[in-house]
Amino acid sequence: MAWYPGATKMELQPESDSQPAIRPTQFIVHSIVAPWTPQRTYEYWQTVNLESHFGLGYDGSLGQYIGTETRADANAAANRRADGTGAVSLESASNLSASDPWTAAQVEALIKLGAWLHEEHGIPLRICRTADDPGYGYHRLHSAWNPDGHACPGDARVKQFKEVVFPGIVARATGQITDPQEDDMPTAAEVAKAVLTLDGVISVPGAPATNPTWTLASTQTEILKRIDMVRTAEAAQTAAITKLAGLVGSGVDTAAVVAAVKAAIADAVVRVAVDVTGPHN
Ligand SMILES: [Zn+2]
Repeated sequence: MAWYPGATKMELQPESDSQPAIRPTQFIVHSIVAPWTPQRTYEYWQTVNLESHFGLGYDGSLGQYIGTETRADANAAANRRADGTGAVSLESASNLSASDPWTAAQVEALIKLGAWLHEEHGIPLRICRTADDPGYGYHRLHSAWNPDGHACPGDARVKQFKEVVFPGIVARATGQITDPQEDDMPTAAEVAKAVLTLDGVISVPGAPATNPTWTLASTQTEILKRIDMVRTAEAAQTAAITKLAGLVGSGVDTAAVVAAVKAAIADAVVRVAVDVTGPHN
């Protein structure tokens, strides 16, 4: 029997000694439909004729109740097959309808344990294609594991399993990403790109209330646009002043002066309308 070094051992008896050995070929994850700590799940397993190998709390803490080479009874036909293979099972804390996603700490614990199971027992890095196929899965993936048709582990977690947890296990197990703390430093170009595209970093004066903070790249574009508007307005004013200067002392009436200024502005093809809405502060 194997005990995962990342879990607190809470050996469940008599099951740990009385249940037959397995050769673990699968890892199947569940939601327990209760916000339980590993200790609370351990206490529950003492009251029913069922158990998982592992219990995972919201904070990422893990308890292990049965060694991974001993049968645990959480996955129906996958618990132990006639050929002696079986599934390692994990129950995870969830809300009372198992509709919430795993927390970041739970996701990290699932990835770490999944990578360890690959290393320790050679569970292949694929999602189980059939109920007997060695690999990784979640309770409702195959009806042979789930004859009662539970939605376990819930839609949000099925999505996370496919998009984050399983790819994370593959990456961790194949060394593409080690522990997040050991990850490589980003390059200068990666840092620059991240800063330029980071959402909501700059509060832009005059930006619409619905979109008050912009990326640095958008802000740079806006600065260039506003410089162009200022230049256009300046050209219009210069044209108007030049025209006015030509009229000084020529004896025309006010209406004619206004018309001449308007014409000068039109000649400069000015759009003085500024497409910003708020005060500049
Ligand atoms: Zn389940």
